[in-house]
Amino acid sequence: MSTIFSKIIAREIPSEIVYQDDTVTAFKDIHPSAPVHILIVPNKEIPTVNDVTSDDEAGMGHLFVVAKQIAREQGIAESGYRLIVNCRDDGGQEVYHLHMHLLGGRKLGPMLAR
Ligand code: AMP
Repeated sequence: MSTIFSKIIAREIPSEIVYQDDTVTAFKDIHPSAPVHILIVPNKEIPTVNDVTSDDEAGMGHLFVVAKQIAREQGIAESGYRLIVNCRDDGGQEVYHLHMHLLGGRKLGPMLAR
């Protein structure tokens, strides 16, 4: 089922797109949790990590290559950053179109609240 991210990728609704190619689109999160908060999304509609297949291996790897590139462009490559992929309810996934969060620009603290 299509989500709002497919509409952003198709440029049917506005978003601050920072990168796009044939397989990936990256845009600013509408409710940023850090000074840099960008979502890196495969153009293909894959709902969750559970739906990734071996055909998606190159596409999943490409998410990291694009994340690294954007981190450098945003000036956070040296200070560091965090990449997060949430999966389903317990993972806190809200939008069921697989995406990677790129967060940085401040100290992010421990990975999870203890
Ligand atoms: P997740 O909880 O991993 O599914 O993350 C979904 C993210 O999408 C949240 O951080 C939202 O703030 C973000 N989001 C939802 N709608 C939009 C939108 N229209 N443009 C940009 N980011 C959005």
